[in-house]
Amino acid sequence: MKFSFTQKDFIELNDNPEKLAVSGDDFDLSWDAFSERVNQLCHFLQEEQLTELEKPVIIYGHKSANMLVAVYAMIKLQIPYIPIDIVYPKERVVKIRSIAQSELILNTTETPLDIAVCTEIMLSQQETRLLQKFPVSYRKKLPDDPLIYLIFTSGSTGEPKGVQISTEAVQSFTRWMTSDFGFHSDDVFMNTAVLSFDLSVFEVMTFGALGASIILNNKNCYADPDLLMDRVQRYQGSVWVSTPSFALIYSRMKEEKRLQSLKTFLFCGEVLPHDLAKNLLNNYSHAKVINTYGPTEATVATTIIEIDQDIIDRYNPLPVGYSKPESHLVVEDEEIIIVGPNVSTGYLNAPELNQQKFTNIDGLRAFRTGDQGYLEDGLLFFNGRNDDLVKLHGYRIELNEISRAINDLDYVLHGETIALKRGGIVKKIVSLVKLSKNEEQKGLDLKQIKQDLSLTLPPYMIPSDILFVEEIPLNQNGKADKKQLLERYLRR
Ligand code: AMP
Repeated sequence: MKFSFTQKDFIELNDNPEKLAVSGDDFDLSWDAFSERVNQLCHFLQEEQLTELEKPVIIYGHKSANMLVAVYAMIKLQIPYIPIDIVYPKERVVKIRSIAQSELILNTTETPLDIAVCTEIMLSQQETRLLQKFPVSYRKKLPDDPLIYLIFTSGSTGEPKGVQISTEAVQSFTRWMTSDFGFHSDDVFMNTAVLSFDLSVFEVMTFGALGASIILNNKNCYADPDLLMDRVQRYQGSVWVSTPSFALIYSRMKEEKRLQSLKTFLFCGEVLPHDLAKNLLNNYSHAKVINTYGPTEATVATTIIEIDQDIIDRYNPLPVGYSKPESHLVVEDEEIIIVGPNVSTGYLNAPELNQQKFTNIDGLRAFRTGDQGYLEDGLLFFNGRNDDLVKLHGYRIELNEISRAINDLDYVLHGETIALKRGGIVKKIVSLVKLSKNEEQKGLDLKQIKQDLSLTLPPYMIPSDILFVEEIPLNQNGKADKKQLLERYLRR
């Protein structure tokens, strides 16, 4: 069985209904059972008159099979969805809900989110239960190119940004995935990223388009490599998808017997270290190592290259590859611009930002990535960024969003955030904070400020260090002087 992303024949039958479709944190589903659950959920929503919704639906949970059931039900009903992992604190969920004006939450956890004015449905293995119901708005007409999902990324203004990805973009992406990567229906995709990050879209869409299998791995796998390795062995995982940082945690990947079923290591999201690729090739000579590059705003990835021995010998740093066929790249003043149908239709309700970042080239949507790069031998190379968007352990973070959260604390007069880098790679995020007079005297403890931040920021955005200072140095433009801040921090 597999899913086609054209709505005409959404589910196509094949003769292997017993094959595993999804292994979640909660339970496993064969293709037969998965397809039945998707249909049951659609039916339930129909009975409750919750189809044809105008506003995006929030799908909330952590690595549950039901999250995928909800995703595919939304695709089937052509209702845009926003995947949100429990890694986000409730205040952030509330913020996202309010930006998107969502009116329905499909909650796959056991704890209700209980957000006022929002209809909430609890999905568990045993039942689908309506928790609360409020009026919803209905779409008048389906747009020509309906949205499939919105992913919220860190925003420099302090508000998360909703990247809108349309059907055309997903179709272009899945066409590429199912043709140029050598994947097929026997593949077993090992998912690592949470569903609120677009890295997960690799597996979430591709397993469905191919009729393959997806193994969702929960947060415990981050802390305990054995858990994930056991799952790779148990399910005979064939495709590993992660950020390079995540793979580095798995230092024991070296000649690890339990990983021998893997045929592809697929990376995206940050610089692929030369050493990591080299070690993988040495230790898993039967497996391919693939580097891909792209932002959420261009549906997961736009370039691809298989890193073989020849590429390892020729290039350090490694290239990020060639453009996917339906898209192309322009490098203008060293900035990488992505052009093609995989480019987002824009951020939700952000006309000014859209004007800056999105444009049209040769009648195609184009996105100014803010990434610096160059082309050599027809290959794209990534050369860092010159703004405040950083990647730490694979997570995309706007430093300003952290500063905004700090400045929102009532005992803070001024907070600024900087990234400490080594060899161009971010190692640590630190904030320098000037407290209000009263608080200075009371001697605020570091734990308290981190705890207060955790109410609005996900754990990976909490600065690892906070330095209390008497003054935040400013430059000639009256802005925080990041260079001096760094020196001040290093002198501490
Ligand atoms: P995200 O939207 O979380 O996927 O982050 C996108 C950003 O991650 C890009 O704009 C790049 O700065 C960075 N990035 C993605 N893929 C790569 C890669 N293969 N090598 C270097 N940086 C990458």
